Parts: sequence; structure tokens; C-alpha cells
Amino acid sequence: MSRVYNFCSGPAALPEAVLKKAQAEMLDWHGAGVSVMEMSHRSTEFMSILASAKARLSRLLDISDDYEVLFVQGGASTLFAQIPANLVNGFESACYLDTGAWSSKAIKEAKRYTKVNVVGSSKEQNYTTVPDFSSLKLDESAAYLHLCANETIGGLEFADLPETSLPIVADLSSTILSRKIDVSKYGLIYAGAQKNVGPAGVVICIIRKDLLARCGDNVPSIWNFENLAANDSMINTPPTFAIYLADLVFEWLEEQGGVEAIEAINIRKAQALYDFIDSSDFYSNPVDPAYRSRMNVPFILADESLESLFLKESEAAGLRTLAGHRSVGGMRASIYNAMPMEGVQALIDFMRAFEERHR
Ligand code: PMP
Repeated sequence: MSRVYNFCSGPAALPEAVLKKAQAEMLDWHGAGVSVMEMSHRSTEFMSILASAKARLSRLLDISDDYEVLFVQGGASTLFAQIPANLVNGFESACYLDTGAWSSKAIKEAKRYTKVNVVGSSKEQNYTTVPDFSSLKLDESAAYLHLCANETIGGLEFADLPETSLPIVADLSSTILSRKIDVSKYGLIYAGAQKNVGPAGVVICIIRKDLLARCGDNVPSIWNFENLAANDSMINTPPTFAIYLADLVFEWLEEQGGVEAIEAINIRKAQALYDFIDSSDFYSNPVDPAYRSRMNVPFILADESLESLFLKESEAAGLRTLAGHRSVGGMRASIYNAMPMEGVQALIDFMRAFEERHR
């Protein structure tokens, strides 16, 4: 067996310790005589896994009792529609900040449900920066303000939030658990699991309890956040194995010292890679340095004709999935929590050697 450094943006690398634990527990989970995949979601065993995942996540993010933690199915893209379906009830519009491909997709879906006010956009800057928050055209009577704090494709991230009375609804798919966040500043946080949480198939949704009252009867019951909360995310069969793996990832993260400890490592990883890119005229990153993502680092080669060779040679060197998103091309290194500093260093060493061979 030889595992490589996996720079995939999602489904992304998982901690090896987690995979080994899942492997050890695969055939017989804690004496149950079956794997987690084979047990009833209503069994006491699975209910204990679900409760553990919720409790660990609540500890890691310091989530207060004012919030419900839901495990939702369908992917973060499902929530692009599910959120307006639930939360615009009784409102005329919703505000959206447009900072890249994922915010744009969320906007497109929301338009099916309500009038969308795009309060600020960096489209004209090719999504390499974030609009100045003081210039946002916020309508304080809207249902909420939606934003995506880490644009996985563009490699753009911001940590500050606009000042507003509106509930902030945030796509934190590529942010969650990578840095400290103050949950109390948000109305709703959602995140597809397949980056920093676990395998694809489950979405973390943290919703302030007062917002549950908005979820109208016209929302399909399987999509209704109030109904999901009342049924502990088990209206129907949840993605049990994905939730189990998420619980193991949360346990691993607690063992690493929690979010603050992993954030310190993430800062060092990103800094090392950006410093190297900036020191070279062979590679470049187009994003405003103030908003460069710590998780997703896109870069291009000055000589585009070398791209396919770069990808071929990096793959051969055990550095997997460095191609940029199909919509933008170039390269992208996704360096989520499970990517160790050694992996980032191996990438930098490869990039330096590639430059020396081909400049
Ligand atoms: N939002 C962000 C920020 C993402 O990176 C992604 C997936 N890469 C999505 C939403 C969509 O997630 P899913 O594929 O789970 O629908």
C-alpha cells in the first residue's frame, strides 16, 4: 500500500488515523457484530454515534443551546435551494453577496424562490477580491444575507462579516473547522462534509432556533428544517456511514487540540505555499493577498504550455489532484485539515525542482 499526498478539493484527504480506525471497526463495530453500514439508524448503537457527532461538533465550534445541529442530505448544493425554500417565508427578498462560483450558484437557486438582491459583487474583478463591506447595498427588511466565506474554486476567503441586523447565512463548506468562528454571529451555517468533515453525502447545518419558526408548511417535509430538528435529523434514513466517519474526524480533531490548534498549522501551511509562489516568477496566484484562501490555493504557470507536464510529473511524484477546477483550469492545491505540513513541503519541493528543470 502506498498513500500519496492528495490535494483534491473534495472529496478531500481524510486523516489516516480515521481511516485506520474505520477499517478496524468495519466488520464489527464495538461488539455489535455488524458494521455501522449494516445497523438500523434507530438502533441504540447508531443513535449513540449520532449523539456523539453532535456533541463533539458542538464542543469543537462552541455551539450554544440557541442552535440546532442538523445532518442534512443531498450536498451543499441542495441547501442552495433548501435555505430559501425554508427561510424566505413571509419575506419579499433575500440579500446575497457574490464573491465567486459558489455564491453565484447559490444566487441562481435562490432566484427560484424569492427576489434576490445582490448586495455586492467582485465579478468585475474576476472574483479575485471581496467587495468593500461599507459599500454593500443591504436591505434590512430582507429574509437574510447569504455569503460564501471560502470560494473553493477561486481560492478566495474572508473571515470578517458585514455589519447587519439580518441573519447571516453562510456557506462554510471549505471553511468549517479550519479556523475559529463565532457561531453566535450567524443565523445559519452549512457545510458539505467532503472537505474538512468526512465523506460526501452529508451536510452540516447549524441553525439558530428562532429561524425554525419560519419554515412554512409548503416546504417538502423532508426538506423542512423545523421538521428535521424535531426528528433529530432522522425524518428518514440518514447517511449513517458518513455521519459515523464525521464523528471519527471530530474525535481526531479533538485529539489534535481542537480548532485553534489546527488553525495554527493551517496558517503555517498556507503561508509556506503562498510565500514560495510569491518568491517565484514561474508561478503566480491572482488573488488579493488580503483574501487568499488558507484551504484552496490556485496557481498558474507563467508558461501555460507546461501545465499538462506539471500535472503528469506531480502525479508521478505522489502529489495527486493538483488540476484546477474544470471551469478555470490552472492548478489548485487544496490543503484542508488532513493535509500535513509535510505534504505542503513536498509540494513546494516539487514545484521548486520543476521550475529548475523547465525554466
Ligand atoms: N459550496 C462550496 C463552497 C463548495 O466548495 C462546494 C463543493 N465543492 C459546494 C458548495 C457544493 O457542494 P456539493 O457538491 O456537496 O453540493
